[in-house]
Amino acid sequence: MLQKNLLVPFLDVFDQTVRSFPNAPAVEFVDGCLDYQQLMALALQVAGYLKVHATDSPYIGLFSSRSLMTYAGALGILLAGKAYVPLNPGFPSERLNVIINKAGLTTVLVGKETEKVWGILNSHPSVSHLLFDSTAAQGLFANDNGKHLSAIETFEPLAENRCSIQPSDPVYLLFTSGTTGQPKGIAIPHQNVNEYVAWARSELPLTHQDRCSQIFEMSFDLSVHDLLVTLCQGACLVIPRDGDLLFPSQYITKRRLTAWFSVPSMGSQMKQLGLLKPGAYPKLRQVLFCGEALPIAVADAWSKASPDARILNLYGPTEATIAMALYEYRGDKQWSSGVVPIGKAFPHMEAEVFDTEGKVQLKPGHEGELWLSGPQLASGYFLDPVTSKAAFVQLNGKDWYRTGDLAMRDAQGDLLFLGRIDQQIKIRGYRVEIGEIEHVLRKSSGRDVWVVVLYQTIRDEQLIAVHENFTEPLDNVKCLTDCEASLPTYMIPSAILSIPSIPRNANGKLDRKAVLELVKNHFVTE
Ligand code: AMP
Repeated sequence: MLQKNLLVPFLDVFDQTVRSFPNAPAVEFVDGCLDYQQLMALALQVAGYLKVHATDSPYIGLFSSRSLMTYAGALGILLAGKAYVPLNPGFPSERLNVIINKAGLTTVLVGKETEKVWGILNSHPSVSHLLFDSTAAQGLFANDNGKHLSAIETFEPLAENRCSIQPSDPVYLLFTSGTTGQPKGIAIPHQNVNEYVAWARSELPLTHQDRCSQIFEMSFDLSVHDLLVTLCQGACLVIPRDGDLLFPSQYITKRRLTAWFSVPSMGSQMKQLGLLKPGAYPKLRQVLFCGEALPIAVADAWSKASPDARILNLYGPTEATIAMALYEYRGDKQWSSGVVPIGKAFPHMEAEVFDTEGKVQLKPGHEGELWLSGPQLASGYFLDPVTSKAAFVQLNGKDWYRTGDLAMRDAQGDLLFLGRIDQQIKIRGYRVEIGEIEHVLRKSSGRDVWVVVLYQTIRDEQLIAVHENFTEPLDNVKCLTDCEASLPTYMIPSAILSIPSIPRNANGKLDRKAVLELVKNHFVTE
């Protein structure tokens, strides 16, 4: 286990990388590239601004999409001793406003590319925002509470490289789907990220010749891996344009990627589209997946398409900082679940399978809930002691996070992922609490009984919302419009089905499996 006091803070590692490789490409866009020195200079300008103008809150919003602001902005926030709160420009304003209020944001960095959207969405005149103009020679100009300043104002870069930071200070605050209809905040401190980055530098080494994908949105914590693991090793972060991800094989070949990191859904889609021909990506050295179960057939196709790459299945919830377990796929085994194991916990972390009561630690071969412990765990949900109490527990003098994942250890000590014990699902890698969608539908319709199920079509996965059909017909359009107003696109049901009565089990509980069967029959016979 890495001794906490021996861990080099990741910002020091980044600083050292800038000194070692000042002219190496750090962030490459389609139309330009920043080397490490330039990236640091911009980040220090942002930090200089924040040091003077954002003294009141530890959290700074980041409203941008794969632009200069995204990367120099995030680093600048960290160099200023603050934590970033990604505000996904694709989210509806209601959800963004919940996040802005919960995080107590008073300053938001806005990318030039998202300025117009911010203007339409933002109903917070008290939140000031700083714009990054990549076309302006000086890099930065201020926009004070929505009013443009007449002249470009530049800011004194932070004099010494950064402010003093405590290991317990947050790096980022992310919001994930919550069962009660409100997104749940998870703040991850420096000490956790230091552990992850140290592990990744040792186990997933990169050099300044490596070129890494940047597919994850900043609101997904796997983007922290992209940003920090790449930039703490002198490699180049290769930024796609939004449309490029529709043609991922060109992104890999034309942009000469050597490291790929995506959710398995994207990997699987590429397989279905015939983009994983044997030997297609000879330059790839690392192929990483995380965020949902990795089908063996997908891992296999990738290992053939990129014969010189390690194929790695990372596992971990946001609550345990990016990822905390790893399995390296070598193509020499099969598992009856059809998915690649999640492997073993990192050496400094612990993962154990408990019975569902949380009393007995189970032996290999027995299914139970996966509990996690170790220095990458968050301390709880942001300002939410009630939800925290249920998931973050103490046992035998240790802090644990109850994942809600069903797992089993095999005879080799590898953990196998077997699904969920609750209503959390993954759709295209996005974490969704079904309860959050049902909450919006109940509020919108005034009707209590809703069941949302994930339906697998031949092409993709769809959310179908089912309700009991009373005499008065339901206004489906209003329900879907209300969903659109408060939920991200991937959480909006594709269809609403009315059925005479929702099946219930012997205890009178809603029988979700039976509802899914009804949905399947409905669409097959339609
Ligand atoms: P998130 O907080 O969005 O990263 O979601 C965490 C959840 O994603 C975990 O609790 C699992 O249910 C699922 N997950 C993450 N990685 C894997 C993996 N490699 N295999 C199976 N499920 C995974």
